[in-house]
Amino acid sequence: DQSVCAPLPVLGSDVTVPLVTGGEVTYAALDYAASAPALQRVWDDVAAYAPYYGSVHRGAGYLSQLSTDLFENARRTVAEFLGCRADDQVIFTRSTTDSLNLLARALPADCQVFVFETEHHASLLPWQDAHVTYLNAPRSPQQAVTTLERALADRDPHGPALVCVTGASNVTGELWPVRELAAAAHAHGARIVLDAAQLAPHHPVHIRDLDVDWVAFSGHKLYAPFGSGVLAGRADWLRGAEPYLAGGGASRKVTRRQDGGVDVEWHESAARHEAGSPNVIGAYSIASACKALTGAGWDALVAREQHLIAKVREGLAGVPEVRVLSLFGDDAPRVGVISFVVEGWNSSHFAAALSAEYGIGVRDGLFCAHPLVRTLLGSDPQTQGECGAPEAAPGEKSLNAIRVSFGAGTPDEHVERFVSAVR
Ligand code: PMP
Repeated sequence: DQSVCAPLPVLGSDVTVPLVTGGEVTYAALDYAASAPALQRVWDDVAAYAPYYGSVHRGAGYLSQLSTDLFENARRTVAEFLGCRADDQVIFTRSTTDSLNLLARALPADCQVFVFETEHHASLLPWQDAHVTYLNAPRSPQQAVTTLERALADRDPHGPALVCVTGASNVTGELWPVRELAAAAHAHGARIVLDAAQLAPHHPVHIRDLDVDWVAFSGHKLYAPFGSGVLAGRADWLRGAEPYLAGGGASRKVTRRQDGGVDVEWHESAARHEAGSPNVIGAYSIASACKALTGAGWDALVAREQHLIAKVREGLAGVPEVRVLSLFGDDAPRVGVISFVVEGWNSSHFAAALSAEYGIGVRDGLFCAHPLVRTLLGSDPQTQGECGAPEAAPGEKSLNAIRVSFGAGTPDEHVERFVSAVR
C-alpha cells in the first residue's frame, strides 16, 4: 500500500545475528509487546541531555535546576499526552507494575476491586490485600460490559470500588471497550484504572475522552528505555494514602517529637509517591517518546500498524496448522500483538527455531497472563508447569503459545520474513 508511511527509526535496526544454518541476518525484533526498541529520536534527546543531568529537586547548581525543570516539564508533557484533567496528578514510577501496585496501596479502606481474570498479572495481582472479585473471561466486548455491570450491581453501593481493566490485551492484542466499561463503573459509583501498557504504544490514550480515573503505562513499551513508568489520574485517593515509599522528596517536614519519635508532614503533590532521587532520564525519555509519537501523527501510525496486522493475519490464515488465539473473534479491533499455536509443534521449540534459523525474536510461554492463555488454549491448569515451556506430547494440546508483536519501528520485511518462516 503506497499510502502507508515509513516505520519510525528505532535503535537496533541494523543489528545482525548469527543463524544456525550459517551466515547472519539483520535481527527482526517482533517482541514489541515485551519491550519495544527505543526510538532513535528518544535516544538522541537523551544523549543530548545526558552531559547536563544533575540531581532533581535537590541542588542549587545550574545543572540541578536544569534537570528539575526538565523533570517537571516531562510531567506536563505526559499530562498533555494523556489529556489529563486540570487537577490530575502524574506520578513517575518504574513501570506499569509499579504504578498499579502504587494505586493498590492507595485504595481507601474497604475498597472493593473488580478485575477480569483475563488481565496481565501486573493488573490481576496487586489487589490481593483488598476485597477482589475476579470476573470470568467475556467472549465479546459487549459481554465484558454486561459482566461488569452485573457484578457492580451486586455490590454494596455505599463503599468505594475500583475496576481495573487493560486497554489492549498483551496476549490477543484485542481492544477492550474502555469507554463503555468506564461508563458502567461510574454509573455504579465505582472508579476505573486503565492498564494502558499495551494500548498507549498503539493508540492515543485520552483520560478525559475515555473518562477513566487513572492510567498506567511503561516507558519501555512506549519506545523509551527501561526503568520508568507513569501513573496519572485523580489526586484524592493518592493524597489520602500513605506514601508508596517513605523517604526524602516525599516528606515536606520532619521533626523530632518530645517523646523521642519523629513527626512527618508528607507532600500532597505527586512527590508524595516519588521518594528518593527521581529517575530524571527515565521521565525525560518518556516525555520525548510522547512528543515523537504525537509528532509522527496517530492516524499515520495506526494506518501503518493495521497494514502490518493484515499482512500477519492473512499470512497466518494461509497456514492450516496455525490457530490464532482470540477472545472476541476475528473481527475484533486489535493492535499488533498476535498469539498463536501451531498444531504438532511445541511452541517453545517453534519460537526457538524462528530465532535460530531466521533471526526473528518472538516470545513463547503464557505471557504473564496465565488464566487468559489457559482459557484460550482450553488446557487444564492441573497438568501444567508454572510458566515457561511445558512440554506437550505429540498429538496433545499446546500448553503455551507463541506471540508476535510489532509497532511503529517495524519494517514490512520483518513481518514478511516472519510469515514466510512460519510457512
Ligand atoms: N500490563 C500489560 C497489559 C502488559 O502487557 C505488561 C507488560 N507485559 C504490564 C502490564 C507490565 O508492564 P511492566 O513489566 O513494564 O511493569
